[in-house]
Amino acid sequence: MRSANGLIPRPSPERPYRLEGTRPGESPHQTLFISCTETQIAPTRFVSRPEQLFELRNIGNIVPPYNPKVVSGAIATIDYALSLTNLRDVVIAGHSGCGAVAALLNQTSNRVSPSLRRWLVVGSSRVACEDAVGTRASGAIGKEALDRAAQAHLLTQLAHLAQYPELESGQNSGRLRLRALFHRAESSTTEVYSPRDDSFKPLAREGSGRRR
Ligand SMILES: [Zn+2]
Repeated sequence: MRSANGLIPRPSPERPYRLEGTRPGESPHQTLFISCTETQIAPTRFVSRPEQLFELRNIGNIVPPYNPKVVSGAIATIDYALSLTNLRDVVIAGHSGCGAVAALLNQTSNRVSPSLRRWLVVGSSRVACEDAVGTRASGAIGKEALDRAAQAHLLTQLAHLAQYPELESGQNSGRLRLRALFHRAESSTTEVYSPRDDSFKPLAREGSGRRR
């Protein structure tokens, strides 16, 4: 039910909102979801309730290599999220047709600003992307090759993320689960990275209530 001004009514003290799997007064488990700011990917599609999302979005879903001495909004945001006691899942998501990856490989007709070029350097994925497309030439690259580059870029950011000490200890204790997703907007399908096979596999639906 929505109020007259279109906003969802706030919970009253008598009837507080209660999320699945939680008791009154208890916070729901949260998911740190790191993704590109582009419109092809919507993090709310990957959780049963938007309130569970702790989002970090930036152009290119870039995770800077861990360095506590560097002033970085991304590092501080990830570090803060990892300190939350009710955090259980960490997801990093890339997508097909990523403009940041296209800019990295000089495959876009859009203007690439100096600030974007410097930001892409932080992702340090140029070599991995060039290896994925099999060429370092400056010619046109096909869509499939660009998407392979986007996956290589995603895995580079996953490797950066794995360096964060709190994440490593959380995984070792079994408290945290880390996954990398690759979303294809054109087919509305999502793949999850399997470290065991070093490949992307279709993401299984975890429940009929899930939307993708
Ligand atoms: Zn993107």
